[in-house]
Amino acid sequence: MADKAQRLWHPFADMSRIPGHELVLARGEGCWLWDDVGRRYLDVTAGLWFANVGHGRAEIADAAAAQLRSLAAYSIFDRYANEPALALADRLAAIAPIEDAAVFFTSGGSDSVDTAAKMARRYWQLRGHTERTVIVARTNAYHGMHGFGTALAGIPGNAAGWGQIMPDVLHVPHDDHTALAAVFAQHGTKIAAVIGEPVIAAGGVYPPVEGYWKQVRALCDEYDTLLIADEVVTGYGRLGSWFASDLFEIRPDLVTTAKGLTSGYLPLGAVLVGPRVRDELWSAGAGMFRHGYTYSGHAAACAAALSNLDILEHEDLAAQVRRLTPVLAAELDSLRGLPAVREVRHVGLLGAVQLAQPEQTDTLVARLRERGMLLRGLVGHSIQISPPFVITETELRKFAAVLAEELTELGRDHA
Ligand code: PLP
Repeated sequence: MADKAQRLWHPFADMSRIPGHELVLARGEGCWLWDDVGRRYLDVTAGLWFANVGHGRAEIADAAAAQLRSLAAYSIFDRYANEPALALADRLAAIAPIEDAAVFFTSGGSDSVDTAAKMARRYWQLRGHTERTVIVARTNAYHGMHGFGTALAGIPGNAAGWGQIMPDVLHVPHDDHTALAAVFAQHGTKIAAVIGEPVIAAGGVYPPVEGYWKQVRALCDEYDTLLIADEVVTGYGRLGSWFASDLFEIRPDLVTTAKGLTSGYLPLGAVLVGPRVRDELWSAGAGMFRHGYTYSGHAAACAAALSNLDILEHEDLAAQVRRLTPVLAAELDSLRGLPAVREVRHVGLLGAVQLAQPEQTDTLVARLRERGMLLRGLVGHSIQISPPFVITETELRKFAAVLAEELTELGRDHA
């Protein structure tokens, strides 16, 4: 029976099981966290894949506080702007994986996905192709939990249980461009856009198969369809380049981002929009784009993002990710062959270990927590490894050693 005195409703939680079992976090510094009784934990997932520059960065707090004191926020609807929003838009355009991009600010990843989906559909409406409403997504995909994101979800549990959210969505296997070709052959004239995470993240960390994104881009070109890269996890350095779109030569028309944009210090997202969509939606006659959020371009959040980008650049954290990439790869590869392990997957500073017995996932997460390491299960069979970029090689190897011990122990339970 649920405890009715519990007031905090946790997202993605079975609330019949939470009361009395909360872990209250009080402080963070670098890749370390402390709970309310002073126990220390290694943050192996950078929160929900966001704390890329690490916790406790005074310079981001100071930048946000200074902005909060002068002008916390004023809506940027219509003609209004603020200095941090203008500066951040310029800065993002300069690093975007699209030439000559415009930047539309949101409050997070789900907002960014819904914004990009609406931009894609609006683009075709304005061009007179009112039949182009379908968005193609992939199995295992996670695109946030707003209306579009839920309808686009490729993780079955996330899409189900609400009734139909949206009719104009098709799904294809995430690793097979020929299935996408078949969908195009059948529905091509109705497809507004294809959306995909460059590396499937919450769905289990699946790097793309060789050449996948070039094939997808070629199909989108052939059928004149828009391509949306959801870089909410991969954006801002997780794979050692600013964007995964650069790494995999995706050439997207729109890029959705959030998380690493501020490293989570304040909520902020951004959609990077290429000239094809921008020019149509900004053309005389297109009229007002009737979409936006109260906190789009929130001044203090944009100030936090600027400071976060300063840190990423000054400390060259992308280079740190590139240095740690082979370390994580070698450590995870060495787990292959353990009885408890079914598969390991990794790219950049992003990895997953899939268990041979899915029901052991929660046990593994609990045992690692007892040993002072916080991470979480993904889709019921894998664990997520996505530490802050500031983790040291020693800390990463220490974590991997503890993980190997616990996996070995779990393997004994198989007998
Ligand atoms: N898109 C991807 C690829 C994500 O991983 C997430 C969140 O994990 C989202 C969108 C949604 O972001 P938010 O939770 O900030 O709304």
